[in-house]
Amino acid sequence: MLKKLLLLLFSFSTVYAQDSLRYTIDLTKLQNDRLTVEVQLPVGVKEFCFPKMVPGTYAIYHFGRYVSNLQAFDQNGKSLLVVRKDTNTFSFKNASSLSYEVDDTWDSPEIKGTYIFEPAGTNFQKDTLFALNTHALLGYIKGREQIPVSLQLKTSKGLVASSSIMSKDGKYIASSYQKLTDAPILVAPADTVHLRVANADILISVYSPNKKIKASEVAEQLTPLLKAQLNYLGGTFPVENYAFLIVMSAHLKNGSYGALEHAQSSFYYLPEDSIKVMGPVIQDVSAHEFFHIQTPLNLHSKEIGSFDFQNPQMSKHLWLYEGLTEYAAQHMQLQGGLISLPAFLERMTEKYRTSHFSFDNSIPFTKMSKGVLAKYKEEYGNVYQKGALIGLCLDLYLRNETKGRYGTQQLIRDLSARFGPEKSFNDDDLFQLISETTKVKGIKKFLALYVSGSKDLPLKELLPTIGCELRSSDGKKEKEAILEAMKQELKEIKNPSPSQLDLRKAWIYN
Ligand SMILES: [Zn+2]
Repeated sequence: MLKKLLLLLFSFSTVYAQDSLRYTIDLTKLQNDRLTVEVQLPVGVKEFCFPKMVPGTYAIYHFGRYVSNLQAFDQNGKSLLVVRKDTNTFSFKNASSLSYEVDDTWDSPEIKGTYIFEPAGTNFQKDTLFALNTHALLGYIKGREQIPVSLQLKTSKGLVASSSIMSKDGKYIASSYQKLTDAPILVAPADTVHLRVANADILISVYSPNKKIKASEVAEQLTPLLKAQLNYLGGTFPVENYAFLIVMSAHLKNGSYGALEHAQSSFYYLPEDSIKVMGPVIQDVSAHEFFHIQTPLNLHSKEIGSFDFQNPQMSKHLWLYEGLTEYAAQHMQLQGGLISLPAFLERMTEKYRTSHFSFDNSIPFTKMSKGVLAKYKEEYGNVYQKGALIGLCLDLYLRNETKGRYGTQQLIRDLSARFGPEKSFNDDDLFQLISETTKVKGIKKFLALYVSGSKDLPLKELLPTIGCELRSSDGKKEKEAILEAMKQELKEIKNPSPSQLDLRKAWIYN
């Protein structure tokens, strides 16, 4: 019995070895600010690629730029001829292992090309910090993206590795390249906190070079937020574990603090300051990033479900992935009592003004989304502005049509229950799906006018349903000019009627 079991185990590991991609990185061997990656390949591999783009960034990065000195070996360890076909693609004859060097993206100004948003990049600092967004380190085999992968990481003593994937003796295993690279790893001196909130283990890992902020302080700041999020999501988190990986920086590198979401973690690059200064910022950014566990993790179209790292196709629905996520992050804070209604309206006012001042609101949002990598690159930021206002309008429209019973909060829950992490919807079917799910007459027309159309959002019509209004801050009537928009603000009205207050209550608390 035991022998048979051993045989079975043996054959399993043989199969596994043949059909898997195994990476090894030794963080103690940093040379010229470069790490060496060793790769064991499955049989019959003639090409190795690095991502041109990764999910969530909506920008073309060409991570192959950071790779140098790639060598390929056959099964006898004999060196093979390697041809670099383009920035991201290397070809060779039937190699069984590879070795190459990688520069970090934060500290390599000599490598020209598009600046990489820090939360999507890498930083190697000997014995101090390794920010490992592994898509910037690890290549993959085109056409075999679905084979299992593993990463063996060797870290120096005194540093702790944090990630949403649990490692065993420094080994990270995932069912695919996309799953592994969707779990960044932060390696830094130990400052981590584990929280248990409902059904989820929450890991908070902080790197603060001057020790200005501690993971325990961040945990204290995030606890009420996580509880409000839990309520908003209906009492259960859709994931069993989640990691907040936070790097504080004493000096801004390329001009962009921020964060990037993943299915079960988010990576932050923020200015280093005390919890008093950074607490509200961390709370606001986390509220948004954490909500991505709903969309796109539990609700996405095929473009995202099977991401193409070389020729990514854009979905039409950034208003859903980013806009509605941003709206929900704000609405949840209002519902959970973390911010007041005036504060919520003030934030929406800022979005209204920014969307008019900095972006072209006449481009239909679905069209902008589809073309966000090229033609509409400059318009991307509007997903957090007009995108969130689309969320507000959609929510108010649904609430008004259902006498307060139904809103976007329930809509996302219903759609997530129908699709979930493994099943993708067709981009073209989304409006029909929303119509079937909400059963609200006129919703398709609403989406056609304001999301795939270019009509101005009906804030003026919808805000009064909850006893608020869009009014000019200097008392003038609303005009459509951009400068006029700068004077507009979303405000509560003086004496709302009982029916307005009823719908407002339903909108916030139901
Ligand atoms: Zn986002």
